[in-house]
This record gives sequence, C-alpha cells and structure tokens, in this order.
Amino acid sequence: MKPVIALMGRPNVGKSTLFNQLTRSRDALVADFSGLTRDRKYGEGKVGERPYVVIDTGGITGDENGIDLPMAQQSMAAADEADIVLLILDARAGLTGVDQELVSLLRRQSIPFHVVVNKIDGMNSDTAMGDFYSLGIDPLYRIAASHNRGVRSMIEEVLAPFPEDEITAEEQAHGIKVAIVGRPNVGKSTLVNRMLGEERVVVYDHPGTTRDSVYIDFEREGEQYTLIDTAGVRRRKNVKESVEKFSIVKTLKAIDDSNVVLLLMDAHEGIVDQDMHLLGHCIEAGRALVVVVNKWDGLDDYQKDRIKDSISRRLKFVEFAQMHFISALHGSGVGHLYQAIHTAYLAATQKLSTNYLTRILEGAVSDHPPPMVNGRRIKLRYAHAGGQNPPRIVVHGNQTTKVPASYERYLENVYRRELGIEGTPIKIEFRTTE
Ligand code: GDP
Ligand code: GDP
Repeated sequence: MKPVIALMGRPNVGKSTLFNQLTRSRDALVADFSGLTRDRKYGEGKVGERPYVVIDTGGITGDENGIDLPMAQQSMAAADEADIVLLILDARAGLTGVDQELVSLLRRQSIPFHVVVNKIDGMNSDTAMGDFYSLGIDPLYRIAASHNRGVRSMIEEVLAPFPEDEITAEEQAHGIKVAIVGRPNVGKSTLVNRMLGEERVVVYDHPGTTRDSVYIDFEREGEQYTLIDTAGVRRRKNVKESVEKFSIVKTLKAIDDSNVVLLLMDAHEGIVDQDMHLLGHCIEAGRALVVVVNKWDGLDDYQKDRIKDSISRRLKFVEFAQMHFISALHGSGVGHLYQAIHTAYLAATQKLSTNYLTRILEGAVSDHPPPMVNGRRIKLRYAHAGGQNPPRIVVHGNQTTKVPASYERYLENVYRRELGIEGTPIKIEFRTTE
C-alpha cells in the first residue's frame, strides 16, 4: 500500500512548491477534486521504487486571535486520510503564532507529524533554525523546496518506518479483484448489495478490512472474486463508522489494488468532472476498466439516446472499455457485468510471446515506417512483454526516445487490434539498443 503524506501549513510557506517537487517524478495525476474537497490537491510520486500519495491540504491562516478553525478543520480532515502529516514552516518568516497553534493542534489530536522548515536556501543556518528549536521537536527537517534541496532525503526518512510490503487483504485475495468506485451517490452501495445479494453468488464471511476499503470474497459460477467495496457497505453495521464518507484516497487505493475497476456514473446526472478525474486515475494506474452507467431506469428512449450520445462523445479516449447501462436498484444489466469483468481481466493478464509481439511490430513498421530523425530513420527491431495488468509491451530499437507520440499511439492501436485486447489500457515502452 502506498503511504499517504499530507502537507499542512500557512499560505506561502511553500506547500505547492513542495507538492510539485514530490509529484514530478511521475506524470502526476494532480486532480483538483473541486467541490468535493475544497482547496485540496492529490498527487502521486516515487522516491526510488517507493510510491506514495501526496495531499496538499490547502493553507491555514490566522490572526492574533488564533488560527482560522474551520479552515484548520478542513485541513485536519484531509490529514485524517493520511498516514503522516508534514507541517511546513517558513524559515524566512520565522516561527509564528499560527505555526505554534498548528503544532499543538496536531499534538492534541495525536496526528503523527513531522516538522519541515522550508526556504533555508541562502540563509545562515543559525538564523534559519533558531526559532524553531523552541518547538522541542527533533528532528527538524530542513529543505529548500524551490531548489529541490533536502527534499529527497527528507522524504526517504519520512517513509522509512512504513513497511514496504504490508500484507494486505488484497494479497490474500482469491480471485479477480474488482473495485467498485465512483463519486458519491452514483449507486456504489446499491450495486454492492445487489451483487452480493444475488442468488447465484456465494459470499464468504470474514471480509478483509484494510483501513480503507472492505474486501469481500465471493464466488459465482465457479469463479472467485474479491470485491473491493469503497462504499463500505459491510462495515456500516459498525455504529462508529456509520458516517462513512467518500474519500479520494480510499478510492485511489482501491483502484491501484484492483485488477478490474467498475467505474460507476449516474445516467441522470451525466458525466461530471469528478468522473473524468477518476477515469484519468484508472488509466494512469493502467487498470482494466468497465464503465458502468447506473440508474438506467425511469428514462424514456429519447433520454437514453441523448445520454448515450453525450457519454460516448466524452469517453472517446477510453473506447477500449466496455460500457454497461444498468439499474443497480432494479438489478437490470447487473448480471452482464461479470462477462465484462472477465473479458477485461483476461485481456489484461494474457501471456504475450516475444515472437508474436515482434511479428506484429514488423508488420506495423512495414505498413508505416517510423519517421526520420536527424537524417536517420528510427529503427524498431523487436518487442517483448514487460508485464501484465496492464499489458506492457517493450519495444527495442535505436533513437527510441525520439519516437513521436502519434507513432506510439499508432503502435498501440495495431497491437490492440492484432491481439484483440479489449477492456484494458496497454502501455508501450521503448528501449534504446543501438
Ligand atoms: P503555499 O501557499 O504554501 O503553497 O506556497 P507556494 O509553494 O505557493 O510558495 C510561496 C512562495 O514561496 C513562492 O513564491 C515560492 O516560489 C516561494 N518558495 C517556495 N519554496 C521556496 C524555497 O525553498 N526557497 C525560497 N527562497 N522560496 C521558496
Ligand atoms: P453511493 O454513495 O455511490 O454508495 O450511492 P448509493 O448506493 O447510496 O445510492 C445513492 C442514491 O441513488 C440512493 O438513493 C439509491 O437508492 C439511488 N440509486 C442507486 N442505484 C440506483 C438506480 O439504479 N436507479 C435509481 N433510480 N436510483 C438508484
């Protein structure tokens, strides 16, 4: 599981700068889930091989009367999703009253945190740190986010205590891991209940519960599945967690953990930005995907046509995914999801032989040779499989860093067509072998 790091602090201390440094190692999905989470940004990054999630919780201001409490509570709610908080302080501004209050707030709420002093560049170390020692916190990390100084070693130390390979319910999972995700009220709980309540389904007890989602093993027609329930249906029995709320981090983790994502949308509301953000993350994560348009009841044919049109227009870039129109409430269409899950799963995990991949490459190249670069033609020589779920195809050749994105898309389409891959993204990677 990826550790989740939340950045907290006053405005202008350098949170966004640090956020950008921490997420630049990868094409970060910097989703702005506006409306849902005010002023919060989510991104992903890696240090070495270690992935993590970063949340920028938005700034907390205050005056001589103390911190802006509602603002701080927003920030704390974001911190609640995190494994560790980094409280960012500004070496140039020195220690302020608001900083001190934040420290005591974090302590009072027993939220694990580290203090990171930013903007130490060009400052004498004693002047820079003098004030901050009075907090009595050790260690104090010192960084210059805008110069990317001290950031890597700080993050390595911060992540060190988190186990790299935590045994999670997902590893005990028996079958195809299916995550049911979507923004609030699209019908996730209704679908989970519908699927588990179906007569043909045998649900095993002892749902595996991570801190984030509930993992439920079940069997249907001899096939094993593990349902990753982000809505926490099974958990609601527990009074304490009756206020189970939608959480971006939980959703991102469920997607990362799954083999196949069922991404739910609401036919009555159409596709909104939050749906697109989640979709973006599914693709970024390379997950096999089934798009499920729910609440397909109570609509007349005219409405259905219009909705279908507008959805397929907006989802052109995920043409590889099957789209299902269901009513979780009445059960219609739900049974067909299993076939879609299988198709996507098999496509995502099929074995691809070097011979076959190379033959397809040769065909593609002879139909459409790659362009010339610096007077030399790019040569693509052979291909082999680099991994599954998503299928990764590694293409070797010369000058491969110069392969245009359009040519990469062309290869992807050829592979998709020739291999009959449906339901999953494909990743093409290039390696230079001169
Ligand atoms: P946020 O409001 O906490 O997100 O702060 P920003 O990341 O927007 O940074 C506020 C200002 O501080 C910007 O002008 C940054 O360029 C500057 N800044 C951020 N990090 C550093 C640093 O390490 N050194 C210096 N000198 N300036 C920095
Ligand atoms: P969640 O927040 O994604 O778990 O959504 P819920 O499952 O709690 O559903 C939100 C609301 O939508 C509830 O009032 C459900 O009864 C309703 N709902 C769920 N599925 C359907 C459906 O297929 N058709 C209709 N008309 N309403 C639905």
